[in-house]
Amino acid sequence: MNKAILSGNEAIARGAFEAGVRLASAYPGTPSTEILENITRYPEIYSSWAPNEKVALEVAIGASFGGARALAAMKHVGLNVAADPLFTLSYIGVRGGLVLVVADDPEMHSSQDEQDSRHYARFSKVPMLEPADSEEARAFTRLAFEISEKFDTPVLLRSNTRISHGKSIVSLEEPVTGLPEPCLERNPEKLVMLPGNARKRHPLVEQRIVDLEEWACTQPFNRIDEGTSDVGVITSGISYQYAREILPEASVLKLGMVYPLPKNLIRSFAKRFKTLYVIEELDPFIEEQVKAMGIAVQGKEIFPICGELTPGRVKTALTGEEAPVAHPVEEALPARPPAMCPGCSHRGLFHILKRLGAFVTGDIGCYTLAALPPLSAMDSCVCMGAGISNASGLNRVVPAAEKSKVVGVMGDSTFLHTGVNSLMDMVYNRVPATIVILDNSATAMTGRQDNPATGYTLDGGETTTVDIETLCRALGVKDLQVVDPYDLPATREALEGAMGRDEPSVVITRRICMLERRGGAERRPPLIVDPEKCTGCKACLKIGCPAIEWTSEEGGKGKAVVNKLLCVGCGVCEQVCTFDAFGVSHDE
Ligand code: SF4
Ligand code: SF4
Repeated sequence: MNKAILSGNEAIARGAFEAGVRLASAYPGTPSTEILENITRYPEIYSSWAPNEKVALEVAIGASFGGARALAAMKHVGLNVAADPLFTLSYIGVRGGLVLVVADDPEMHSSQDEQDSRHYARFSKVPMLEPADSEEARAFTRLAFEISEKFDTPVLLRSNTRISHGKSIVSLEEPVTGLPEPCLERNPEKLVMLPGNARKRHPLVEQRIVDLEEWACTQPFNRIDEGTSDVGVITSGISYQYAREILPEASVLKLGMVYPLPKNLIRSFAKRFKTLYVIEELDPFIEEQVKAMGIAVQGKEIFPICGELTPGRVKTALTGEEAPVAHPVEEALPARPPAMCPGCSHRGLFHILKRLGAFVTGDIGCYTLAALPPLSAMDSCVCMGAGISNASGLNRVVPAAEKSKVVGVMGDSTFLHTGVNSLMDMVYNRVPATIVILDNSATAMTGRQDNPATGYTLDGGETTTVDIETLCRALGVKDLQVVDPYDLPATREALEGAMGRDEPSVVITRRICMLERRGGAERRPPLIVDPEKCTGCKACLKIGCPAIEWTSEEGGKGKAVVNKLLCVGCGVCEQVCTFDAFGVSHDE
């Protein structure tokens, strides 16, 4: 048997291949993004980026209706977007197996909240598997398709940042064979969820959970690691690894399926121990269900409910002592605050919005960094698509004199994700707010993935490009301007014009992401600062370009200096400096 060292996301992709998956769809979102990027390594699977998670799941559902095994992947907040089809799919069930992978982000390394996706399993009455390492990520993905078809249900597979991005040894198995060929098969009683049909399906959904619960009591994915002490632990996923490390002598009931819980197995395990812990990350999901069974356990009264668990946090909770760091870093790493890249096309725009005193309702993307100093030019950020609709609501309620200050901003990918609906609402309801679509031709924050406006598909093939201007006009936008955000006077003029008009206005700032995958961004010779002209006013530092550094000078205020290795010559700093101190380096 071949083995490989894979990340959890690579292992999920491998598991999908081994399971005979025919189609996979996703919207990129950390920490789930690399699942689809790795699935492209298997040409047997048709894979695609969807404009949002709801669409990704619906595409997968369509493939399942055709009898193909299908996978959809997303991060936890994406499951909120996909929740609508998920709940009805729970009633419909599947034809070809369907697995929805959801990756949670405890500690919010790259997310706006740290919700616990296990609740979706119980809420939608769908089984959920939770791997504890890369090998289980592969095996559970494969197993999830078998469960899906055996119990006529979609299956949720829950990962998190540590499982998705951590690496461990994986056994590579041969793909399954003999799966039926997809074909059309009409079954409207099952596939059409009119109330009359849905009512008949609901009892089946309830029975399915009962059947799954009994079945799971005997399956090896729910197993007991026998220990030598009189302490018992119930746990799952990455928390299992922490429990084993900190309580090596405890007996551990490791749950591979976190919903539904194997209640009989839990009862027989629990009665053997005087001290019983439930160790789980985020919410007391298992703990509350175990307590509801009348079993006394210790859980969130000692273990933290917020943030990631770590071996140290588990040890501190149990003993009050800090666990030593297993692999201390010898050298202190320099602090690296999050910042937009040198030459980022968003920088100049936010500089101007700040100067114009705009109240900026933001959205999710690289540009959310504009909320941080030194730009400090974003006033709200809720979720993908909300930048426009937040602006609409705000504009409706503030005094007339303040309405023109409301500006919603959103990237091209975010606009296509769910911003289109928000702009439709704004135009339809004649809200005179200003919207800026920051079109950098990339889903940049998650790693510069493509989207329907970039002209490329997941596998890099050329395709039809959504024309954002035409789309905005089709939604009814009459006041629309396109500007180059490197051109600060033109950007300012466009914004002032839009903010001054009493109608819905859209400004598209178009400049390709400096890190765009195909290298299409324009790099110009780096700039230098003439120390004779620099007065040390620090105005250029306020745009937050990492290429602009500061030199102290004895007795003086200090001066700006450009790091030529970082500078891409965008010229934004040159336009900000009122002393004409920036110029092009002639040594290049
Ligand atoms: S804005 Fe111009 S004058 Fe002011 S510190 Fe920067 S380079 Fe020097
Ligand atoms: S030209 Fe100025 S703003 Fe642009 S990358 Fe270089 S230093 Fe940064």
